[in-house]
Amino acid sequence: MAKIQTPQAVRGTQDMFGETEERFAHVVATFERVRRLYGFKGLQLPVIEPTAVFSRSLGEATDVVSKEMYTFEDRGGDSITLRPEFTAGIARAYLTNGWQQFAPMKLSVHGPLFRYERPQKGRYRQFHQIDAEIIGAAEPAADVELLVMADQLLKELGIDDGVTLQLNTLGDTPSRDAWRTALVGYFNDHKNALSEDSLARLEKNPLRILDSKDPKDRPVADAAPVIDDYLSGEAQDFFGAVTAGLDAAGVAWTRNAALVRGLDYYRHTAFEFVTDRLGAQGTVLGGGRYDGLIENLGGPATPAVGWAAGIERLAMLVESIAADRVDVIVFTEQTELDRLALQVSEAVRHGPRPLRTEYLYTGSPKKRYLKAKASGAWRALSVERHENAIGVVRLRDLNVMSERPMRNKISEALGVQFEFQETEIDNAYSWILIGKK
Ligand code: ATP
Ligand code: MG
Repeated sequence: MAKIQTPQAVRGTQDMFGETEERFAHVVATFERVRRLYGFKGLQLPVIEPTAVFSRSLGEATDVVSKEMYTFEDRGGDSITLRPEFTAGIARAYLTNGWQQFAPMKLSVHGPLFRYERPQKGRYRQFHQIDAEIIGAAEPAADVELLVMADQLLKELGIDDGVTLQLNTLGDTPSRDAWRTALVGYFNDHKNALSEDSLARLEKNPLRILDSKDPKDRPVADAAPVIDDYLSGEAQDFFGAVTAGLDAAGVAWTRNAALVRGLDYYRHTAFEFVTDRLGAQGTVLGGGRYDGLIENLGGPATPAVGWAAGIERLAMLVESIAADRVDVIVFTEQTELDRLALQVSEAVRHGPRPLRTEYLYTGSPKKRYLKAKASGAWRALSVERHENAIGVVRLRDLNVMSERPMRNKISEALGVQFEFQETEIDNAYSWILIGKK
């Protein structure tokens, strides 16, 4: 028979297991805790959306729409896209469900996203984000709240060291338009010093040249006109209120006048939390205000602001994570006591203080004791026969606090009264529960 070729994983996807998965889950759990602290509601959204959700809102000229989307025709002939970001889908849901009645809404979501990019460290084709948005609030206090929450999240993950909040304003629509015109003029004057990619962006998305990663573009980009010269009084006041709020909350920030976001819909505040610890993939969290987005999707003018962070990049920065171990290993070396050992493990899992319990049933019974010892569990319970009684023998240290409820639960589950005898087994302080049947 011909040898069957095992299919490979799709390029740019990851199978996460062990420490990688634990770091990932830790980031999500921390986000879920922190977003609740700030009163953000959770969302579950489809991974697939009509292609128009992204092409209309993100802008045809953006990298995401022009090069990175996974778009296909489904069997009914509709153009479907695997979501490359959350914001547009959230805005679509906001409109199609009539959530205007709940505005302002503080929303959060996390899950997989898809972009056809060149895979490298910290850059995947399926990646994952945590995301927080406030829809229907025009106040700079909303921008501040989101940034303070992001700052707390990074602190609670223990990765704030070496991460800086870079802040910019893109102004309101008149400011942004005036700046854009100035940029097009300036870049046209310096055409021969620009990379090919940037020449292509010149008319359609000139702001994007400012954050080009191509070294050829850097001198021209760095000397380009800055938004400050084009900011309306209103836009200046807005930015001033955001920075004053951050200062009041004790959140450190630096101004980066060249910071623009890749997507077209941003207005006013734009920000990124950046680290130098991840090489070229240094942006861990980014976002800003997108007052124009919901209108682009056919909705009423609606102010909104939000951010998203790559879970993989955050997880890579997390220092170390306590290995996910069980608390108790239950085992028996006598196969006729298997059922009893199962009952003991269930009793411990359902106790007044449920403990993470593994019932060891694989491998040779003779080796289970050694396996339990090597497992690193805080405790091991050995189910044994003692003369005419059964015993549950506790090996290793036991937290005194949980000792009595655990014993009671076990004796209740087994329907036997236990006597407690202190004993010394394998040089460890231990107790034996002797049940008289
Ligand atoms: P970059 O400049 O790194 O491509 P971006 O501007 O495309 O980032 P956003 O669309 O703002 O990124 O997404 C927010 C965050 O999501 C990024 O800061 C990053 O942490 C993460 N991210 C974006 N694309 C990827 C990817 N392909 N793989 C892993 N993480 C990603
Ligand atoms: Mg990108």
